[in-house]
Amino acid sequence: MKDILVVEELKLLNYLPKMSNPHLLIAGSIAIDTIETPNEQRENVLGGSVTYALAASSRYCPISVVGIIGSDFPDIGRNLYRNLAENLDDLQEVDGRTFRWGGRYHPNWNDRDTLYTDLGVFADYSPVLSDINKNVKTALLANIHPALQQTIIDQCNAEMIVLDTMNLWIETTRDLLDTVLKHVTVLLVNESEAELLTGISNPQKAGQQLMEYGIKKVVVKLGSHGAILIDEENQIHIGAYPVKNVIDPTGAGDVFAGTFAAVLNSGGTAKEALVQASALASVCVEGFGVEKILECDKDEINKRISYINTTLGL
Ligand code: AMP
Repeated sequence: MKDILVVEELKLLNYLPKMSNPHLLIAGSIAIDTIETPNEQRENVLGGSVTYALAASSRYCPISVVGIIGSDFPDIGRNLYRNLAENLDDLQEVDGRTFRWGGRYHPNWNDRDTLYTDLGVFADYSPVLSDINKNVKTALLANIHPALQQTIIDQCNAEMIVLDTMNLWIETTRDLLDTVLKHVTVLLVNESEAELLTGISNPQKAGQQLMEYGIKKVVVKLGSHGAILIDEENQIHIGAYPVKNVIDPTGAGDVFAGTFAAVLNSGGTAKEALVQASALASVCVEGFGVEKILECDKDEINKRISYINTTLGL
């Protein structure tokens, strides 16, 4: 097997998470990906929803990881998790293959086909939370099968549950997802997922309808058109940072989710969470895997935050 390309030259700049902030639990997939963009193909890229969310959120607060890896998980990935996560008590390692996923982007860079999904050790996984993870303030249920998300909800006393999902689960496991959604505080979806869930093409109206599950805040991501946040007090629309050179769109949604949850967990407002999540997502797409998120310095992020702030309310 080739090395995991994107973390070979891992540079951990500016990693000073604020340890006084409460822990954020992140549960989801930990993967080895093959990615084909219109320009190039990469194999064995360290990915999964947790990896992307962790790379971004660990800038803000200590992270507890809930997930599973197989015996083939490379040392370079283990080191990344050891470096970035504060608590790995609920990172299980078992004999078998790590979850693998392959995706191919269309020439428009937005649409994507899944080439394969190899569940590996996820096939028999049922997370059991340790006490520290039962009592976190915030849990991010990053993209994974809704049955696993429900298992975390059943064990966790978090006051805030942030949820990400994908078209696959909306189309194939709608009943389970509906049950999960009734426990969610913050929902993050993109425009097409919002329409699939509600049948409403207008993202504002779809977001409002989604609040009927009892969800307090709904974020609808609009790709290059930014994002909308809807809650009882606000309807905030931001534009996107104009990325000049997209290299790999994979994981932008997970980075958005990780940042959004971490900023809220660290005491930030929903508006701050929205702007910072969008800034870090724009960094993510400028490289394969988590490479750019790990390299990016504070000045670059602040520049993007300032730009996005100018788009507020436009
Ligand atoms: P995103 O581009 O934000 O949708 O996230 C891409 C990441 O999600 C990749 O690293 C994949 O390994 C992971 N992924 C893809 N399909 C699934 C799935 N069905 N369940 C969990 N994670 C997945």
